[in-house]
Amino acid sequence: MSDDAGLQALREAARLSPDNLPLRQHLAGLLLAKGYLADAEAEFRAALVLAPKNPDLTAGLAEAFVRQSAYGPALAALEPLLAEPGYPPRLGILAARALIGEGDMGRAAYRYFEAINRDASLVDAELATRLTPGGPGSPWPPAAAPPAASPPQVSPPPPSAPPPPASPAAPPLYAAPAMAGQQPVAGGPATRESTSEVERAGLTFADVAGMEAVKEALRMKLLLPIQQPDLFAAYGKRAGGGVLLYGPPGAGKTHLARAAAGELGAAFVNVGLADILDMYVGSSERNLHATFDLARRNRPCVLFFDEVDALAGRRSDMRQAHTRQLVNQFLAELDGVDQSANEGVLVLAATNAPWYVDGAFRRPGRLDQPVFVPPPDQAARAAILRILCRDKPLAEMDFDAVARVTEHFVGADLKGVVDRAVEAKLQQSISAGRPIPLSTPDLLAAARTVRPTAVREWMATARNYVMHANDSGAWDELMPWVKGKW
Ligand code: ADP
Repeated sequence: MSDDAGLQALREAARLSPDNLPLRQHLAGLLLAKGYLADAEAEFRAALVLAPKNPDLTAGLAEAFVRQSAYGPALAALEPLLAEPGYPPRLGILAARALIGEGDMGRAAYRYFEAINRDASLVDAELATRLTPGGPGSPWPPAAAPPAASPPQVSPPPPSAPPPPASPAAPPLYAAPAMAGQQPVAGGPATRESTSEVERAGLTFADVAGMEAVKEALRMKLLLPIQQPDLFAAYGKRAGGGVLLYGPPGAGKTHLARAAAGELGAAFVNVGLADILDMYVGSSERNLHATFDLARRNRPCVLFFDEVDALAGRRSDMRQAHTRQLVNQFLAELDGVDQSANEGVLVLAATNAPWYVDGAFRRPGRLDQPVFVPPPDQAARAAILRILCRDKPLAEMDFDAVARVTEHFVGADLKGVVDRAVEAKLQQSISAGRPIPLSTPDLLAAARTVRPTAVREWMATARNYVMHANDSGAWDELMPWVKGKW
């Protein structure tokens, strides 16, 4: 039987038993290998109906797209899987290829380096060459970012200056008809109650162990302008604007933001992206506008956006016009409709993936000050443990001993250790019929059962950015960290 006759027989077999997944997968793979790309695409699609999110089928479909230069559809096929932790690294390589096709070299580099970190056999000399600095694009921040943000303290816009221009793509605010009972607001989408809530944070910086440099940066940027308005006004500086906190997951960004609000006596609004990203086009914009309004009504207020990269990384992504609209809306809200719109509203955003964040977010007056929230060193780990244990019944504790055996643990991991030790102690206390205080061996035992989260992986990715994509100096602050032992 000739090759093509074999293929024909397979096609016929697939037609006769359309639910036979292994058969369809085999046929799709063969079509791809032989370069029948449109047929392969159709066959992978059909197989994915039988097994949605199957990584092999998704990879096949994405490859068929990439080889047809259909980069957007390739990314659309890959994205649901890429969003899941532990996705197969080869999908990252395919995403890198598609992103290069779209000219998004920053995100392509991120995907490529992350993939080869997780699976060294995927190293691809051609991709690596295309992604080295000096190539056709560079990641955040753009080289064209105005230098006015540096040093921030002495470069405020004069009070009479107009607000910085909105992003070049003027925000195409949602113009759908207002829903029943909702009045449109001039300059913004239809009003709606925010899905976020206002908190009064009981925390202050005293509840945040270590991080002295980070606290100092936040004091300067956020707290002093409100606490000492006259002094700041003398230098033409107003309260407001934003800070981008970045660092490994669990290092304490949310905790820090909450403490900053408490330190200031400000309200705290914590916005998860799930609160904002709404499946109905236009609802997200209304949600976002309502959330900013909520903060403005409760000023002084710290408005905290977690995982801002998910929102911030996609503005150039033409496939997702809806997300792009939302990002433009976000930028417009940050800029404010007039000088005083955001006075007393302090925007803190957090990300584990700062390299995804669109450069437009970093312009002066927006999230113009990136602040690295580092993983804790040994002294900071002991201090975090002390804070986490302070309201528990304790025997004499040697927190330093626990800090010594928890290298690479971040605050969230240490909280896990304490929670686990407390659970075990509670059980013992219930059996004994009396409270038994927590002791050092309890924490040491719990530490042995907790695996630290991804600090080392995060540092490996950061190292790639510092070493290979730092032309603009954006990652200089990370240099001493990534050179350390991880
Ligand atoms: P991130 O936002 O960076 O992912 P979180 O702020 O959610 O991390 O940190 C998780 C938990 O770890 C916090 O709720 C807090 O209990 C604890 N934690 C983290 N860093 C510190 C710190 N420096 N001092 C005290 N507790 C901390």
